[in-house]
Amino acid sequence: MSLELVNSSHGQAGVKLVCAKDELRSALAGARGAERSIGLVPTMGFLHDGHLSLLRTAREECDVVVMSLFVNPTQFGPGEDFERYPRDEERDLELAASAGADVVYMPSVEEMYPAGFSTQVEVGGLAEVLCGDPARRGPGHFRGVATVVAKLFNAVGPDVAYFGQKDAQQVAVIRRMVRDLDFPVRIEALPIVREADGLAMSSRNAYLGPEDRERAVALSRALRRVEQGARAGSLSEGIEAGRRELAAAGVESEYLEARDADDLTAVDELNGRPVLVAVAARVGKARLIDNVVIDPKAT
Ligand code: AMP
Repeated sequence: MSLELVNSSHGQAGVKLVCAKDELRSALAGARGAERSIGLVPTMGFLHDGHLSLLRTAREECDVVVMSLFVNPTQFGPGEDFERYPRDEERDLELAASAGADVVYMPSVEEMYPAGFSTQVEVGGLAEVLCGDPARRGPGHFRGVATVVAKLFNAVGPDVAYFGQKDAQQVAVIRRMVRDLDFPVRIEALPIVREADGLAMSSRNAYLGPEDRERAVALSRALRRVEQGARAGSLSEGIEAGRRELAAAGVESEYLEARDADDLTAVDELNGRPVLVAVAARVGKARLIDNVVIDPKAT
């Protein structure tokens, strides 16, 4: 399917491709006027089953499904992988159509950030730990994420926006932004979709050569160790067991930490509230993240 074909087709198996926000607004005006519900799935493309599960859920729950496809330069730090981030727009459009998207919004960088762009959304506190720690990706990463998501919410006006629990900190940051800035949108976080061996799906898995692909499974194994330890009575011992699991695979983590799932404050032991255990590690050319939420009320 060529981009032109997708561009000119709509309905049935088609998906409408729009690249300008005015065009997007017109494309959605009818639905909005008729009070049909709009679901938004923000993505950076190179779609896999994780993205498709968000799209399929949006399709089941909403009248109109919009997917945004934008590799957002402002959430990449200097020296990160913006330039080489994997891209395949034609395949993405086909997959988005097959998962039920009605509209794909694919703005250019200039459309998203016109000359003179100078406004940022900064979510304090919980954007400054884990990946937002200045020694890691830094708070600039979530400033970029929050700003682009705020712009997407304004451009699309969704009733519901779908995010993956894979990026747990991103979900926490977006929820806080929505609450603090009164965005009239419901945030839905959907479970992590994994490969058969446990590796969390990610567009960045494309960077893994065969040996690194095997080592990468250590992240999900480490998280299982932490959960086992916590459920056996000691979260901190679970964390130690998780660190040993990573070390045994020769994976040096950036962090393996337990945090309150809601406000991301540090947690030493289970305290009756859901705990997020998050890991980030560089494996070969890929920086990978994964997490598990331990809800003491669930078995
Ligand atoms: P990305 O294209 O990586 O920015 O991801 C777009 C959306 O898909 C985000 O909300 C991600 O959290 C979500 N996502 C990415 N990987 C997965 C996965 N393995 N399972 C569930 N959701 C995912």
